Amino acid sequence: MLFNNYFSYMNCIFCQIIEKKAKAEILYENEHVISFLDIRPVNLGHALVIPKNHYTNFLTIPVNELDEIIKVTQKITSAIFSSIKPDGFNIITNNGVAAGQSVFHFHFHIIPRFDEDNFAFRPIFKNYENNSMKDFSDKIRIEIKL
Ligand SMILES: [Zn+2]
Repeated sequence: MLFNNYFSYMNCIFCQIIEKKAKAEILYENEHVISFLDIRPVNLGHALVIPKNHYTNFLTIPVNELDEIIKVTQKITSAIFSSIKPDGFNIITNNGVAAGQSVFHFHFHIIPRFDEDNFAFRPIFKNYENNSMKDFSDKIRIEIKL
């Protein structure tokens, strides 16, 4: 186990689930990754996949551990798809309060979706004014570090 600090462990419900100090309906776990059902499902069968090490968000998880998470997420999604038979699914990760993150231990949501499930992202689309699309892309491109 790797914690950013002791404080985050004590206050992180996911770390407590990993340590079996909090209850969860665990679907799968290996050395690095654990998956369990979300206790507040958008649809029944809504699952989470998380690293066993505590990282706050998508930007702080090391890429090798992210690889593991992605692989397990595909396997769990496949199992949800064949067992629950949804019409579709969303894989999402919320990062930051503004994005709806409520547990600050990085996680993917796997949300089974049904044609009439009444759950929808309702974006209000913006427009790029004048030349601002190029300005935005320039600003982003200069920061890309591969
Ligand atoms: Zn944690």
